[in-house]
Amino acid sequence: MDYLPLHFNVKDQTVLVVGGGDVAYRKVELLIAAQAVIRVVAVEVTGRLRDLIADQGQVIIGHYEVKHLDDVVLVVAATSDDAVNSQISMDAHAASIPVNVVDKPELCSVIFPAIVDRSPVIMSVGTSGATPVMARYLKSLLDQTIPEGISQLANYLKGKREVLKTQYPDSNLRRKVIEAFLSSPGKELAINNRPDEADAYLDDDEIGVVQGEVYLVGAGPGDPDLLTLRAVQLLQSADVILYDNLVSDLVLQRARRDAYKEFVGKRSGYKSTAQEDINALLVRLAKEGKRVLRLKGGDPFIFGRGGEEIEALVAEKIPFQVIPGISAANGCAAYAGIPLTHRDYSQSVRFVTGHPKDGVVSLAWDDLVSPNQTIVFYMGLGGLASICEQLINHGMSQAMPIAVVSKGTTPEQKVLRGTLETIGGQVASTPLETPTLIIVGEVAGLSHSWSV
Ligand code: SAH
Repeated sequence: MDYLPLHFNVKDQTVLVVGGGDVAYRKVELLIAAQAVIRVVAVEVTGRLRDLIADQGQVIIGHYEVKHLDDVVLVVAATSDDAVNSQISMDAHAASIPVNVVDKPELCSVIFPAIVDRSPVIMSVGTSGATPVMARYLKSLLDQTIPEGISQLANYLKGKREVLKTQYPDSNLRRKVIEAFLSSPGKELAINNRPDEADAYLDDDEIGVVQGEVYLVGAGPGDPDLLTLRAVQLLQSADVILYDNLVSDLVLQRARRDAYKEFVGKRSGYKSTAQEDINALLVRLAKEGKRVLRLKGGDPFIFGRGGEEIEALVAEKIPFQVIPGISAANGCAAYAGIPLTHRDYSQSVRFVTGHPKDGVVSLAWDDLVSPNQTIVFYMGLGGLASICEQLINHGMSQAMPIAVVSKGTTPEQKVLRGTLETIGGQVASTPLETPTLIIVGEVAGLSHSWSV
């Protein structure tokens, strides 16, 4: 190891920053976050840097001199003058003050790592100056995989330190209690800022107990890049994944490699799983101590039967959390270039099911035909003729624009645009693959220019 990683307490200590431009600004921002007192020395100092340190330091206009090192615990050289940077480095080394010269590892005794700040948790990545770009890349991976709520978890455990010390004076037992907590549903509860519920899991009775939990996760409409960060974090940690037919293979590939994956949807050629069986499976697996991720297309609470699954979990006291997803309406509209609302054309959006029963779609048509709104029909392809007929019969113009989006947000996305009058014929001559979403309203006739 060429460097010793340390977390340096600079609170209320003076740090010298030589330089007054943007590079200095970025370092000062970080130093201020760490509550240091800043002394900036530079011939010229930008206005925003002055503003930044207004309450937390002083600006000295002029050239660097060795006396500026008096009483400082750290020096940062951020000037564009190599000779000055070398001089600062030499002086600081002579005075045994840690020094960082921006972008000059050979002149540094300390290097700023790339950091992910979820205070009190601070994760730092350094490459000993070898490749700062790679440090930043690794930092971004950490940023995406470590939940924001890790701060809450750390603060929760910090708040319990004294209580735990009294309750479990044996440090070995105390460690086991905390370890058991971290692999229990209590961890997720603390992350989600539900400390009172988390408490039940911080107990020596919990050591060796495996209690499962269920995550109801929205997988978005198809493009795996539309998964939320939280969805990816849980996909990486779940033991079992139960997924629907709407979940794309590319999305599944984001899951932990060794997670057990089971298809529980309806797909031709496969036996479909009844909702009650899915509910029972969720309960059974969680009771076996598994972290079960129920992955649903789009958003779990929009035509996703998420509500029914939750009821089953609540009845059995299984801990769960729901992670929203981008619903088909949002994904398809965005990728087809259709703004769902528009100042001039549409002041509200309706999400309705277009699923026909005996060939007829029955909905509150009088409501749906009122002007200045967008109607999004889920599950509507089979009922398309009925939908158009009903809208026209209830007074909507035959010329009202309509768009049918097939396999939205995936590489196979197709968009058919027409009017209530023409779309039936268009779909008959260009068969579309499911899933398809139907969007009706003036907005469906707007610009095509963003189409993928
Ligand atoms: N929970 C899902 C909807 C489930 S209902 C969500 O929030 O998106 C299933 C219907 O969603 C399909 O019949 C279709 O109308 C729509 N749908 C889902 N994914 C789609 C996609 N990629 N492209 C077009 N429509 C889609």
